Amino acid sequence: MKDSILVINCGSSSLKFAILANAGQETLVEGIADRLGTDESSITFKFEGKKNEIQLDIGSHKNAVDQIKSWLNSHPTIEHSLAGIGHRVVHGGETFSKSVLINQDVVTGIKKCSQFAPLHNPAHVKGIEVAFELFPGLPQVAVFDTAFHQTLAPEQYLYPIPMHFYREHHFRKYGFHGTSYRYISQRLAQIANGSDQQGVLVAHLGNGASTCAINKGKSSDTSMGITPLEGLMMGTRSGSLDPSLLSFISQAENISFESTLDILNKQSGLLGVSEISNDCRTLEEAMESGDLRAKLALDMFAARTAKHLASVATTLESIDHLVFTGGIGENSSYLRQAICNHLKALNIRIDSDINDNAPRGETLNISAKDSNTNVWVIPTNEELMIALDTISLIQH
Ligand code: ADP
Repeated sequence: MKDSILVINCGSSSLKFAILANAGQETLVEGIADRLGTDESSITFKFEGKKNEIQLDIGSHKNAVDQIKSWLNSHPTIEHSLAGIGHRVVHGGETFSKSVLINQDVVTGIKKCSQFAPLHNPAHVKGIEVAFELFPGLPQVAVFDTAFHQTLAPEQYLYPIPMHFYREHHFRKYGFHGTSYRYISQRLAQIANGSDQQGVLVAHLGNGASTCAINKGKSSDTSMGITPLEGLMMGTRSGSLDPSLLSFISQAENISFESTLDILNKQSGLLGVSEISNDCRTLEEAMESGDLRAKLALDMFAARTAKHLASVATTLESIDHLVFTGGIGENSSYLRQAICNHLKALNIRIDSDINDNAPRGETLNISAKDSNTNVWVIPTNEELMIALDTISLIQH
């Protein structure tokens, strides 16, 4: 039966993939092609509990997809079960408010949105074109990170700058992590009856991190902006700050605006403050062995996450649920506690014992008995969402 979906997430120098079967419930094979564009690229296949790495003689996206095709050739049962391909696309601008079956107009639309995601969207287009070439006849679907936030009201998505910038150039807040938020909203509705008619806050905390308010199942505000730089302090991104700093930093270092932005995107956040690492786990270990810089970075991360949760909550009528997700949100009990410590004024409280002993990878309610809000840890699953959208669109 043709019911499995190849999910592709093409970055500028990497290509992650997975094949999901059984209505997305089962991952048959997954892997990543890394360091594309260099002569040290490789592709890894994880299948039946074993990892197999192959060096790529040509480190291109095309060669990576070619390797996936060759792997499928030697696993014909999986190859013959493929029903379609789902692509994660970072920026859909105002053109795409939901997932779509890909045709030439869609490819043109994704190219047009490249101005706001110059590293990601061209890579997605490459992935799509290569997949059409190597898997002719298989329908393909694009799933956009921005689409879920197209429900924001103008007073939330507009920047308070002269309106002609929006009219002429579409400069506005778009928001990201939308596929994760949509998954969390649906998953929460399964475990907390009626949550799709309530107010939900979500903190998606990974290397990239953002918050989202979901009002009756629809995104009402989110912390990321026209690019993923706005909002929370992240692994290497500064998040929101006074834009005048751009000019101060560029003058102080005698560097261009682009180089200054590069510092804010790649050398700031947890890495910039701790001067140790962008990785939360490494910082927690350093903090446990007494490193004060690591503790400061983590505590700043917590304070700023709480601030952005409170900020997006202004679009809700009530805060019925708060969900932690993403690598940090799912695994760091220290940061979950530290974030909730800043939210006491909103009567959001967690049970420290349950929080500290939360089993990895499981959905769990960690609220304290006297909390006004249900606080959850829910592992996100963007691949499942992409597979389900693909199945649903290719069936129509
Ligand atoms: P990405 O945005 O790249 O998808 P992830 O969602 O995978 O990121 O999250 C990566 C982050 O999760 C890293 O900072 C990592 O240290 C953190 N993380 C993963 N496991 C743990 C853990 N057990 N404790 C604390 N942090 C963790």
